Amino acid sequence: MAENVIILGTGCAGLTAAIYAARAGLSPLVLEGGQPGGQLTTTSEVENFPGFVHGVDGNELISNMKAQAERFGAKFAWDRIDTVDFSGSIKKLKGGEATYEAKAVIIATGASPRLLGIPGEKEYYGGNGVTTCATCDGAFYRDVPVVVVGGGDSACEEALFLTRFASKVILVHRRDKFRASEIMVQRVKSHEKIELALNCTPLEVLGGADGKVNHLRVKDQAGQTRDIPCKCVFIAIGHVPNTKPFTPALPIDENGYFVAGDNTVSTPIPGVFVAGDCADHVYRQAITARISIADFFCGMKGRTCSV
Ligand code: NAP
Repeated sequence: MAENVIILGTGCAGLTAAIYAARAGLSPLVLEGGQPGGQLTTTSEVENFPGFVHGVDGNELISNMKAQAERFGAKFAWDRIDTVDFSGSIKKLKGGEATYEAKAVIIATGASPRLLGIPGEKEYYGGNGVTTCATCDGAFYRDVPVVVVGGGDSACEEALFLTRFASKVILVHRRDKFRASEIMVQRVKSHEKIELALNCTPLEVLGGADGKVNHLRVKDQAGQTRDIPCKCVFIAIGHVPNTKPFTPALPIDENGYFVAGDNTVSTPIPGVFVAGDCADHVYRQAITARISIADFFCGMKGRTCSV
């Protein structure tokens, strides 16, 4: 029998949808994908989520949201959806573990870390000195120099976090202006362990005879090439939305984000909704992921919808 609603993704948007749908008596089935809990599980302290005066650990916040959804009857399973058929009133989703049917689908599949696409990056990715997660891997690089690439809030956050372990953190950014919020930029600039390498474009990750990273090669503003000594390169240059399995059924923009309708979560297909970072190239905040889906459920009473 078809589920009332299937929710794809267990980041902030997916879990908020699960809480609201479960409280509405819909017994949602929530599918956790490749990264259960989403991006908040790879961050350290979340300082800007309302209600936590002294911040909250990302993993703790997510596991509380999941427990809250379970308390109201949300069911959880693990699967990654490969293809969908949204042509009928009953939506069909084919995953690696099973095929699912539902009257409505909420896609909250988030976004995955973007990579640089330079030589050496894939070769050393994982345990050999290239990673996208300081929280996961930072503790492996104690008392050695590390590089963080990027100029947004993520890069600043990663750089500050890594100062707990590394002897020195070199923040490599391709411009001299940051995308990060002013408070983060100031913290980075004033930290004694952080060195800035601005106007520097990464060219190649280099390693030694031990098969581990030992330098990042960059090109500076003057066009000069130089090698920055480091034991790890932490890449924090944004994310790519996880929308591929749902195209061409749903429209995406030139950057791969779902194009949501007038209420920010609707799509051209009745009964199929999108929320969170897979549909938001502007704000990409935990709190906005929650607001869009909460707004949708609050507006549902006056809306024709197949849930
Ligand atoms: P972002 O704001 O899009 O910044 C990505 C950075 O990576 C930019 O500085 C960009 O450079 C650089 N970049 C992109 N592609 C590159 C490439 N191929 N080579 C070198 N550099 C490259 O991404 P983000 O930092 O992940 O942040 C995403 C969203 O999450 C933002 O809205 C941010 O505010 C939010 N966030 C908030 C917090 C917080 O409030 N605590 C923490 C983390 C993230 P250019 O500047 O030159 O384009």
